[in-house]
Amino acid sequence: MHNKRLIWQLYPSQLLITITALLVFTWYGTSSIRSFQLSETATSLEAQAHLVATTVGGYLSHNEIAALEAFCREAGEKSATRLTVIGPDGKVLADSDEDPLRMENHSDRPEVIAAISGKMVPSVRFSQTLQENLMYVAIPLQDEGQRIGVLRTAIPVTAMERALAAIYQKIVWGCLMVAVIAALVAWFIARRISKPLEQMRSGAERFARGDFVVRLREEGAEEVASLARALNEMATQLNIRIQTIIRQHSQLQAVFASMVEGVITVDTEERILDVNQSGAKLLNVDLEKIKGKSILLAVRNTHLQNFVKNSLACASPIEGEFTSRMGADGQEKFFYAHGTRLQDRQGHIAGALIVLNDVTKLRRLESIRRDFVANVSHELKTPITSIEGFAETLLDGALDDPEDARRFVEIISKQASRLHTIVEDLLALSRVEQEARREEIVLQESPVAEILQSAIQSCSARAEEENMVISLVCAEEVTARINPALLEQAVVNLLDNAVKYSGKGSKIRVEAERNVKEVLIRISDNGVGIAQQDISRIFERFYRVDKARSAKMGGTGLGLSIVKHIVAAHHGNITVESSPGKGSIFTIHLPVNV
Ligand code: ADP
Repeated sequence: MHNKRLIWQLYPSQLLITITALLVFTWYGTSSIRSFQLSETATSLEAQAHLVATTVGGYLSHNEIAALEAFCREAGEKSATRLTVIGPDGKVLADSDEDPLRMENHSDRPEVIAAISGKMVPSVRFSQTLQENLMYVAIPLQDEGQRIGVLRTAIPVTAMERALAAIYQKIVWGCLMVAVIAALVAWFIARRISKPLEQMRSGAERFARGDFVVRLREEGAEEVASLARALNEMATQLNIRIQTIIRQHSQLQAVFASMVEGVITVDTEERILDVNQSGAKLLNVDLEKIKGKSILLAVRNTHLQNFVKNSLACASPIEGEFTSRMGADGQEKFFYAHGTRLQDRQGHIAGALIVLNDVTKLRRLESIRRDFVANVSHELKTPITSIEGFAETLLDGALDDPEDARRFVEIISKQASRLHTIVEDLLALSRVEQEARREEIVLQESPVAEILQSAIQSCSARAEEENMVISLVCAEEVTARINPALLEQAVVNLLDNAVKYSGKGSKIRVEAERNVKEVLIRISDNGVGIAQQDISRIFERFYRVDKARSAKMGGTGLGLSIVKHIVAAHHGNITVESSPGKGSIFTIHLPVNV
């Protein structure tokens, strides 16, 4: 429905009331004046009639018509009143203004009829005789109880009516002026009432749009001013609350968005209400596209779907673990999930909150640790079993044969030193790992050539045994931020491998150079090389391509692991280029600006 503006509701009704009141007042006033005037005139006419009634009655009872006529003319002239004497039959006997013979029978005149019946009823009408409006009053004439006629007095009312018309006109003009003034005042009042209300309406509309800067003027009538005050107060309170809500919402959003855990909220129909960035990433879905979709369609993982179902069904929080291959890389991921049913204040189920933790790394570490323990045990078991076996053989009598005894003791010694090497390597590995974790490894800008020289020195005896030549190409001024002892150990391990896995007389090159971004230390050999599929695994602990060869060479499978950790502690990385039968190049990349 179209609502009218307040001013158009107030103004016409005010105007209507004013005009109606004026019209009623005018009508009442003028009609009162008129009836007062008429009744005054009638009273005066009646009084005049009574004054002359005795005289007229005298003439009439003596039948002195001529004298009666003369009296009527004289009295009528003097009193400016028309006098008419009418016989009981209605015949006009005398008249002050007209010849009675020319006048018709007056028995039908209302004032005459009334007078005959003993009443006095004035009558106003147009006189054919005088051609103007007259007021007539008639009284009965009696002689000794006998009705002998009717005396009628009349006076023109045209003058009075003219005067009354002038009064009417003045009143109408006055009314019109009052109506105009009243209309203006009504308009002004209506404007005064509606204007602040209109301002309040537009202010309230701005509040509704969230614009709380605007303030309503607290002025005008007390009611309007206090309404404006109340609205302003409401706007202030609303603004504070909205700001608080916005702040809390953005804080929550920030927390929600920056959480490492994936958070998904679903409604009771299992439709996704919200999901944070981590959640979308974990599930490998598009954040915006899945909102509002059913979890069944959005995420194709039955474990998660069942978990959501259970979370909605269970009153207490639930936990669970499941795997998935939903990731972009298609690799298996491990999720640890928390599910909590959400309830509103009335206790109605509103949905469920699922928190997903990617525990893939943890599970992999656990499996690595398990494998590591198994590997260590396995690695240690071989030499220990061997030592145990040969020691028992010696005790069982082999000691008596000096040649066997010597051979067995030599084996025991060899296995013991293998044990020693394994333990040494394990200790070195755990030391580097621990120090790196605690950030205890001190790096300082040092010349690289010296370290390479010293590493070559350490391996030279073994290289010479194999007729190998180790060459070094490194400018004296090449420096890097390093821990000299650790880097030397890494280079020694790489050189040791190069010697172990290259044939007699091979050439081993050690080079170092510095470019804008990094210092490169390259150890290349032309040995057996490494197959492509093994390259990614050789840095794993205890991984060996050729177990027998490694063992024969005294390898533990830990050398490259140690190298990898040392390089990582230097914030660098190590790359390998190799082709079976041709040789391998191990390159340590050390960043320049660390
Ligand atoms: P290991 O003690 O057995 O040498 P590492 O961790 O040092 O253990 O090396 C792991 C494996 O990588 C070795 O068993 C070997 O198969 C391979 N490897 C390492 N360096 C070389 C190299 N320079 N040439 C060929 N194979 C190598």
